[in-house]
Amino acid sequence: KKLGKDRYEVFEPTMQEAFQAHIALEADLRRAVVRHEFELRYQPIVRLQTNEITGVEALIRWNHPERGIVPPMDFIPLAEETGMIVPIGEWVLREATSRVAEWNARRSGPPLSVSVNLSAVQLEQAALIQTVESALTDAGLPPAQLVLELTESLLVDHRPATLHRLNGLKALGVRLAIDDFGTGYSSLAYLRRFPVDIIKIDKSFVDDVVDEPTAAALTHGIIQLGRALQLSTVAEGIEHAGQLTSLAGGNCEMGQGYYFAEPLTDTALNGLLFPSD
Ligand code: C2E
Ligand code: MG
Ligand code: MG
Ligand code: MG
Repeated sequence: KKLGKDRYEVFEPTMQEAFQAHIALEADLRRAVVRHEFELRYQPIVRLQTNEITGVEALIRWNHPERGIVPPMDFIPLAEETGMIVPIGEWVLREATSRVAEWNARRSGPPLSVSVNLSAVQLEQAALIQTVESALTDAGLPPAQLVLELTESLLVDHRPATLHRLNGLKALGVRLAIDDFGTGYSSLAYLRRFPVDIIKIDKSFVDDVVDEPTAAALTHGIIQLGRALQLSTVAEGIEHAGQLTSLAGGNCEMGQGYYFAEPLTDTALNGLLFPSD
């Protein structure tokens, strides 16, 4: 009050507006779940030595009736907060596994794998194991072709049930990846405890791998760490040929990024996989 009345008049409407926008978004999101307003994009993951596509990462988009395509960062946090990520995440799993199983049935080469991002809230559900198992069965996708991506913070701030749940997922035969590796704190201790198969090197390292010696040393160190632990390494966010040269030269196994392909609609990816269609 000492600051004067004006402060309140400036501050209050902003708070009010933010609150109302939040409520409106939440109502929209509930409707989106019922009306199936979500879509997936598929970004190719490429073997750096040969340029062959080994798999795709499924990335969600919300096709909002008025706002158009909404990126995940604008609604995943709210979906997590409200628990709506559980049905949304189940839809992602079912859609991604069945689409990739269809592509694999038509392909002559080695089968593609599909990577699906999991949120901490999904991992808290005991039913997650059955959800994943039934998505795989219904899609007809072998478990080894599914990669579940987890963030570092999920493993660092883990709950007692996390290890149990991850072991349950591993027992199904799916693979586990650590997403955005290197951006959390204490990235190393949990590598002893959790049954991880793949490290995804965060884009922030890849961004500077050509111009900044420290980023290059860290990136190449992560690749060697992965190798020593017999984990696959995937570099995220490769945009230029110079980054590819540095990463491939350092024996990074795989990569993804706009240099190879942006996240593509299923129709566009279909065209890439089956050009004669
Ligand atoms: P992520 O899993 O680390 O996905 C990589 C993000 O980097 C994607 O952003 C992708 O479009 C973007 N990207 C890929 N290559 C490049 C590049 O060369 N340059 C640049 N600038 N960006 C690149 P997107 O699709 O906006 O997704 C953002 C995040 O949202 C994801 O990060 C993931 O954490 C989350 N997310 C996406 N789909 C899902 C989902 O189905 N469930 C959950 N729980 N989270 C999801
Ligand atoms: Mg990811
Ligand atoms: Mg990532
Ligand atoms: Mg990310």
